[in-house]
Amino acid sequence: MSTIHKALYDNVPQDQQSPAVERFSDEYGRQVSYLRLSVTDRCNLRCMYCWTCDGLSFIPHTKILTYEEMLRLVDAAVSLGVEKVRLTGGEPFVRKGFLYLVESLAKRHPSLDVRITTNATLLAGKVAALRDLGVRYVNVSLDTFDRERFQKVTGRDMLRQVRRALDEVLEHQIGLKLNAVALRGFNDDELPVFLNFARRNPVDVRFIEFMPMGGCTRWREENFWSAKDILSQAGDYANLIPVQGRTRRSGPAKLYDIEGGKGRFGLITPLSDHFCKSCNRLRITPDGRLRTCLFSDKEYRLRPVIRHPKLGMEAARKIMQLAALRKPLGYRMLEHLHADGSVAEKRMSAIGG
Ligand code: SAM
Repeated sequence: MSTIHKALYDNVPQDQQSPAVERFSDEYGRQVSYLRLSVTDRCNLRCMYCWTCDGLSFIPHTKILTYEEMLRLVDAAVSLGVEKVRLTGGEPFVRKGFLYLVESLAKRHPSLDVRITTNATLLAGKVAALRDLGVRYVNVSLDTFDRERFQKVTGRDMLRQVRRALDEVLEHQIGLKLNAVALRGFNDDELPVFLNFARRNPVDVRFIEFMPMGGCTRWREENFWSAKDILSQAGDYANLIPVQGRTRRSGPAKLYDIEGGKGRFGLITPLSDHFCKSCNRLRITPDGRLRTCLFSDKEYRLRPVIRHPKLGMEAARKIMQLAALRKPLGYRMLEHLHADGSVAEKRMSAIGG
C-alpha cells in the first residue's frame, strides 16, 4: 500500500477496516451503498463551467443505455447492497419518459431511496407526481437568484421556471437541497441572499467548490472561492452552528444550522478537504461506463457486456463488484492535474453531476 493510501486508510475507523469483501465494498472497507446514475448527457442549459471547448458533442443515441438496461443495472447494484440511487445528467428531465424510469424504479425497489439532481427548469408541474412515486429529496442546482446573471451563467433566461419549481417543491414538502457552485467574482456577493433563502425555508443551501472538470476547463485560480473563505464571510451574515459529523443524510457536505432560521447552510469541499475516505458511491454514465471516482478517468464499460449475447447482466454485476473493490482512495486532485489543468477528462454533464 502506498504511503498516501496507508495514511488515509489509517484514518478509516477500525470497525470499517474489514478485509475485502463479498458484497460491495473496497479494499479499504468502504461499503458502496450509493449509485449515481446519469440518464442523459444532454442538457437544456449551457452553464459556462460545464460546456467547455468540447462544447456540443453528445453521446450518440445508439450508445445511450435504454431505460430497461438502466433498470437492470440498478437491480444488480441493489442486489450488491446499494440503498440509494441518484438520477442525474446532463439534465434528467430532458430525456423523454424520465418519469417512467422513476416510476419503474419505485415499483421494482419500493425501499430504494431514489433522489434526483436537476436544474429545475422543467420540474414545475411534476413535483406532486414525484412525491407520489416516493421521491423524498431533490437537489436543485442554482448559482444565482439574479435573472441577468442566471442568463449569463446558463445561457438561458429560465430563472422564473426554476423559482416556480422551488415553490412547488417546498409546497409539497419534498426535501430540498439547493446547490450553488461557488464562483468568486460571480456569486460571492449573493452569499447573504442564499443565506436568507435558507433562513426562510426548510432547505439545505450548499456551496460546492468550483472544480477543474473537463478538457480545457474554465477553472481559474481567481474564480476559486474556497470553503474556508465562504464560511468566514457567511459568519458576517449569520450565526452558524456546526451540525455534528457528516451524517449519511448530509453526504459530503459540512452542515451548519442557521440561528433563528428554518434551513441549514452547507459546504462541499472536493478541493480543500476531499472526502475520499467516507466515499460510498459509484457512478454510471449515460452510455453505461462505471466510474468509481469522479476524479479518476478509469471507466469500466458495462454496455458492451450487457449487450453481449454470452455475457449479459451477471457478468456486468461481477464487473461492478470488482470495480468497487478497486475504488481508489486519496485522489489528490490538484496533484493529478492533466496538462490542461483539469482533474478529469470529461465535464460534469458527461459524467453525471
Ligand atoms: N442538470 C442537473 C443539475 O443541474 O443539477 C444535473 C447535472 S449538473 C452537471 C450537476 C451539478 O454539477 C450542478 O450542480 C453543477 O453546477 C455542478 N457542476 C458542474 N460542473 C462543475 C464544476 N466544474 N465544479 C463544481 N460543480 C460543477
